[in-house]
Amino acid sequence: MSYERVAIDELMINLNPLQTAGRASAAVRKAVARFSDGYSVCDRCEGVLHDIEKPDIKGFTAELAEFIGADRVAVTMGAREGKFAVMHSVANPGDTIVVDGNAHYTTFMAAQRAGLETFIVPGSGSPEYSIPPQGYAEAFEQCKSATGKLPALALLTHVDGSYGNLSDAAAVAKVCHDAGVPVVLNAAYSAGRMPVNARELGVDFIVASGHKSFGASGPVGFMGAVGEWADRLFRLSPTHPKKNIELLGCTARGSNIIALMTALPIVKKRILNWPAEVEKTRRFVEGMEKIGDIFQEGVKPKQHDLIRFDTPLYHRIGERHRKRGYFLSSELADRGITGLKPGQTKWFKVSTYGYSDAQIDYILASFAEIAEM
Ligand SMILES: *Cc1c(COP(=O)(O)O)cnc(C)c1O
Repeated sequence: MSYERVAIDELMINLNPLQTAGRASAAVRKAVARFSDGYSVCDRCEGVLHDIEKPDIKGFTAELAEFIGADRVAVTMGAREGKFAVMHSVANPGDTIVVDGNAHYTTFMAAQRAGLETFIVPGSGSPEYSIPPQGYAEAFEQCKSATGKLPALALLTHVDGSYGNLSDAAAVAKVCHDAGVPVVLNAAYSAGRMPVNARELGVDFIVASGHKSFGASGPVGFMGAVGEWADRLFRLSPTHPKKNIELLGCTARGSNIIALMTALPIVKKRILNWPAEVEKTRRFVEGMEKIGDIFQEGVKPKQHDLIRFDTPLYHRIGERHRKRGYFLSSELADRGITGLKPGQTKWFKVSTYGYSDAQIDYILASFAEIAEM
């Protein structure tokens, strides 16, 4: 079966966690089409992207800062660009940063691009893979004895992309501040799906992903700073005094920022539904585990819609199936379900974000049917 890409999320049930909360609404699609030309938001620019009033990027920026609980925000091309900007502005080449053991690969890319060493806070391992907040204090000590000084920055992955664990950001922020280390929260998988407030959590910086968790086509995201750190992150150029150095002057300067602007009011509503989303996830896990020889990994019960399953059941079926491991994605596709990596049967990640109870029942029934093969 093959569809126009734009129709996949209309005609199929897509379980890919990367995409379930990034689906663009009709309103976002329409707005993006209206701003499809290059530099389309720049007609009335007086030199500062975030001060443009028509379209009202200025009002949107203030609204976004309020929404995420930061003193200042700027739109970026994604969470990774935000992480790089934060690291680059807080640390100097050769400095060390401490990151959690579930950190996304882009955290390492950002650190390497900024010339930084990374120390890792180990996770708890199987089956929870959680990050103990106290691990940060231990990593700070290790960093101090190995390098002679504290790390320049700590980073916490709020919800990781491997297990969908929700980490205790407030507890980690407290450990960091007790040690005098600033902390950035990577909210790529949380902000936009669930309520997240940087100030309430006590973090100094936050980064988020528009195309992952705000239903914005992007590429787009944003970064925010709380308190004294805002001046550092948003410092201006000595040669071009209107221009922000970490933003290279301007970031999202076209349909991507329009997508995020259009998505924000929708996101404000949808996050109110978060407890129901988590309930659905838990019901889905229960239904999958009931099939037998399928196990949810990570913290139980789920606190986020990204689920990683260990699936010896489907692996066994694949071993004797004509299509080998491809039978699973193929059987699902026959039932209008997509988003699993073709060929993968030992384990997989799915997200039930945004699906109705009836759709959840249908997905469960499909997996159960395929289990009988
Ligand atoms: C997806 C993801 C990213 C990357 O987000 P971009 O906006 O594409 O840069 C970063 N961190 C985590 C934890 C992610 O899951």
